[in-house]
Amino acid sequence: MRLREPLLSGSAAMPGASLQRACRLLVAVCALHLGVTLVYYLAGRDLSRLPQLVGVSSPVVDSGPGPASNLTSVPVPHTTALSLPACPEESPLLVGPMLIEFNMPVDLELVAKQNPNVKMGGRYAPRDCVSPHKVAIIIPFRNRQEHLKYWLYYLHPVLQRQQLDYGIYVINQAGDTIFNRAKLLNVGFQEALKDYDYTCFVFSDVDLIPMNDHNAYRCFSQPRHISVAMDKFGFSLPYVQYFGGVSALSKQQFLTINGFPNNYWGWGGEDDDIFNRLVFRGMSISRPNAVVGRCRMIRHSRDKKNEPNPQRFDRIAHTKETMLSDGLNSLTYQVLDVQRYPLYTQITVDIGTPS
Ligand code: BGC
Repeated sequence: MRLREPLLSGSAAMPGASLQRACRLLVAVCALHLGVTLVYYLAGRDLSRLPQLVGVSSPVVDSGPGPASNLTSVPVPHTTALSLPACPEESPLLVGPMLIEFNMPVDLELVAKQNPNVKMGGRYAPRDCVSPHKVAIIIPFRNRQEHLKYWLYYLHPVLQRQQLDYGIYVINQAGDTIFNRAKLLNVGFQEALKDYDYTCFVFSDVDLIPMNDHNAYRCFSQPRHISVAMDKFGFSLPYVQYFGGVSALSKQQFLTINGFPNNYWGWGGEDDDIFNRLVFRGMSISRPNAVVGRCRMIRHSRDKKNEPNPQRFDRIAHTKETMLSDGLNSLTYQVLDVQRYPLYTQITVDIGTPS
């Protein structure tokens, strides 16, 4: 026994002390880890603000003002982090029927301030969930700035409440030759895809505003007709095959029909041709009901250089053949200018003239 005493109080005391130190160190490391975890937890669930955590070995080492305040200075990336939950199937933010009127002036600078989460070029993605709907909204356009202001004023809040991951593309036909709505929509499809991996395309006239935010501006398993109850048609469809105004096609649906026709110059018929294409490829039309689908059109006189196309009746009678060679596979145009405004991207394009 005596022989063991010096062993216990002498040489054995040294390993005991270092063991104690090691334990203290371990406790300190655990406490630090706990503290850091707590700070990030309290900083909110918005981990999309932490893209630099991915691939950076030691995020907290980057001290400065501390993680929470450091985070607020990081711009919200458009691509969301994997750590966010998926957005719910139905957004909890929807309000239902909305009052839509066109009797007040719209100041776009004010609209931008009212929509602080919309990024340059009219891009938005929810901050606290990952939206499965990557939607490019394509607006064919020429000389309708006043209508566009109303559209932006009303639609940005709606699209955000719908929790979409979206971008707004105004496709501006250059020059003053005859207007071609469907060709501009084809251009919008191709150009938007250069920006982002959009999976859904909403094609909207600039003068149509939904009256109920339950009317989803997104894609469904079948092509979607959105403007199903326009005030101009007494809040109902003018005819069952009607596919004009606002519609949505997934990328795949759009590709399946070779996009839209390029050779409908002037007003009318192109939407009927699109409807035919969908039917000829075995698709059907999905629609909201006529209450949810109510929308208002801004009244206006007919645009110059967009007179009714006398050839439209003949053309829609031949969609089955023409859709093979007229569409995305024959699309030619020249982009003249791309402007990123706070609430939208404007692409000015030369689409030529009727051949
Ligand atoms: C035209 C369509 C138009 C519809 C409703 C049809 O005669 O061909 O292009 O959308 O009328 O105005």
